[in-house]
Amino acid sequence: MKLSSPPFEIFVYPSLGTSRTYLIKTKSEKILIDPGWPSFVLPILKSHPDISLIVLTHRHYDHHGAAPLVNKLTRAPIVAAATANTTAIEIPPVHTFIFKLIRSWARAGFFFPRLTDFANIALKLQSVDAILKDGDFIDKSGLFKVVSTPGHTSDSICIYSPKYQILFSGDTIVNPFNKPRWVRLITNRQQFSDTQHKIARLQIKKVYPGHGEPFLLTDAKMLYEH
Ligand SMILES: [Zn+2]
Repeated sequence: MKLSSPPFEIFVYPSLGTSRTYLIKTKSEKILIDPGWPSFVLPILKSHPDISLIVLTHRHYDHHGAAPLVNKLTRAPIVAAATANTTAIEIPPVHTFIFKLIRSWARAGFFFPRLTDFANIALKLQSVDAILKDGDFIDKSGLFKVVSTPGHTSDSICIYSPKYQILFSGDTIVNPFNKPRWVRLITNRQQFSDTQHKIARLQIKKVYPGHGEPFLLTDAKMLYEH
């Protein structure tokens, strides 16, 4: 059976470094996945000022940095999974240290405009408008489902369309140098191993990763080869 053309469009936008922002446009909704960084998201909002929902694949600032700004400008609610860690960002301390260092330099005006975003951005997202749970749908038509995929962080999720076999993988699967692979920064090995098994059971044709270009997943084994 051939599927008729999907009732949605997916737009791919570069954000800070290799990170990516995705927009799912359906007939009545515009769902922004990982708004990324302010100076990258503002041009998106020029073409799409009517964002209806902001979905975060996890609370890392390269993904959620612009979320409060987009929420302020569009009134779209911010949704994410619950986090086990409400007091600290889930990364090795050295990352936090580097971020603070760069931010202090940015505040002192040492960088070009894009990096001065660091001066205005929250290291940690204070709150979201609603909590996503495994199995929830993010769209009204019930095409895009939340799959809880902890391991990289406790709040990591993927967004999956069983019908169209599309996976927005956040940082669980990344493709920064056109070599798709599992993420290496893992905060909980056991959870991540469970997540790998969970994803291996899904029918997936195309992955939209949190870092790097979308790619066709012809064979799940490719994820284990790098
Ligand atoms: Zn991350």
